[in-house]
Amino acid sequence: GYIASIMFFALLALRYSKHLQLLATIGMYHGCTALVWGSAKQHISLHIACFRRLLCCVMPGEPHTWTFLALDLGGTNLRVCEVQLKGNHQFTLRQQKYRVSEALKTGEATALFDYLADSVDAFLTEFPSSPNSAPPDPFATGSSALDLLDTSDSSPAVPLGLTFSFPVEQTALNRGKVLTWTKGFSAKNAIGHDVVQLLQDAFDRKHLHVRCVALVNDTVGALLSRAYTAGGCILGSIFGTGTNGAYVEKVENITKLGDSPARKHGGDMVVNTEWGAFNNTRTTLPTTPYDNKLDRESINPRLQAFEKFISGMYLGEITRNIILSLIDAAPYPILFNGRASALLNKHYGLDTAVMSEIEQAWENGRDQPSSNDKLVNGSHAISNASAAHPHPSLSTPTRHFTEVDKLSPEDRSRLERIRNIVIQRFALDAADVTLRDAAIVHWTSCLVANRAAKLSGCAIAAVLVQTEKAKLGGGFVPKDEKITIGVDGSLIEHYPNFNARLRASVRTLVGEEVEARLNIGLAKDGSGVGAALCALQATKQG
Ligand code: ADP
Repeated sequence: GYIASIMFFALLALRYSKHLQLLATIGMYHGCTALVWGSAKQHISLHIACFRRLLCCVMPGEPHTWTFLALDLGGTNLRVCEVQLKGNHQFTLRQQKYRVSEALKTGEATALFDYLADSVDAFLTEFPSSPNSAPPDPFATGSSALDLLDTSDSSPAVPLGLTFSFPVEQTALNRGKVLTWTKGFSAKNAIGHDVVQLLQDAFDRKHLHVRCVALVNDTVGALLSRAYTAGGCILGSIFGTGTNGAYVEKVENITKLGDSPARKHGGDMVVNTEWGAFNNTRTTLPTTPYDNKLDRESINPRLQAFEKFISGMYLGEITRNIILSLIDAAPYPILFNGRASALLNKHYGLDTAVMSEIEQAWENGRDQPSSNDKLVNGSHAISNASAAHPHPSLSTPTRHFTEVDKLSPEDRSRLERIRNIVIQRFALDAADVTLRDAAIVHWTSCLVANRAAKLSGCAIAAVLVQTEKAKLGGGFVPKDEKITIGVDGSLIEHYPNFNARLRASVRTLVGEEVEARLNIGLAKDGSGVGAALCALQATKQG
């Protein structure tokens, strides 16, 4: 049984070492736009942000501070922020996270939006701003959101930008219909409705003097905030609960606009690709029985197929499915003496953060600690330093579990650490967990995360090719140009070496020269800052 399992995993690894080749082929046949446009055709929502004008508003030297509220409904977290845009690439942000219960995610939309309004209310009352005497004007120097909350009828309402990280058909800066729910949400009576109106109605029901003036997708938020802090950006992407990307496209290339005047007018438009929906036809990328189980048991079977290979919500569940199959292997169990735990038996019982912890435990014992995902000089830039020294797990994961008896003392102590994590996090009896079990769990996590990072790299490479920053197979890049990309999400921020693995994938597809020019930076707080930038634009437009 053990040998059979090894062969099975070897097969699995082989399958996924080939996927890049496969995607490369797709790219060649379809000009590499298939990845972006394939999903875009089904789920695209165009975000018409007056991109350049917006950034001009906050160019260096302007004396004002602009204060906005931002509300960010991600897949896992709900954040309320007060953002102060200070111009000169600077901002300050105060935020509070609130939990969205499963009942709210799947209940009536009005209950969900009431909760959002309550959270804003709680933020405004519980988090007093530094006192100042500024008038209730978002453009007043040093004003704070709380100062703006003057409930007298004559005063302007507090302007708020909403970051809504679900597919929306957006038709104006403050208008967009919900197309579908993703990431475990299924609130009733929201699809087809204007999300800004749903939120505004909730504010009004609660007599909150807050006006939702702008709607922004989290990817667009990452793009805008990175552009604001770095002075330019071509792609904003999210690797958190879900995954998605938004990039700047020439309007003339957007065939969906048909003969509309906007298309003839030219210029740039931010396109939200909804790349998480790529491969929904399931004809392009190979799936394993573990993926199929996850998909079948999800609340959106056959949808968000690409996202289900990649994002934080799903990696732990794929790993759990693999682990269970190894526990149940016939005729002999491969893991944990054939015993599971209540936690391992629970749907979504294994959080991706635990895989992170397991990989980190292995990393911590490395001779030369990897540094790729560390923030550099507090500048929120993710260094590409380790890209030059690929992590061993980027290739086929090690076979150390076959030879546990021959391990060096260092590797043994690393496996000991992993074993302790496994016992604790999986709630298993210590007697059922061997060092070899720990090694197998580590290897499984590597496999699942490697595939995710490689496919994430494919999405980024596709955008580089589409925007003519790169050619599939390498060999083209505008001279001396840095290519700035903003990323956000716990997966890319915290998963050990996720960024290095992603870069290795980009390198395979578009070559070293382009990869070396990628300036991938954390658009930390991108959702809040992006929403504030859009709210600023909306307020200026009046
Ligand atoms: P959101 O997508 O709601 O904005 P995050 O970016 O924090 O929120 O992503 C949350 C997802 O990230 C969850 O699915 C969680 O499993 C995963 N996650 C949280 N912490 C980590 C970690 N340390 N390593 C990897 N994934 C993590």
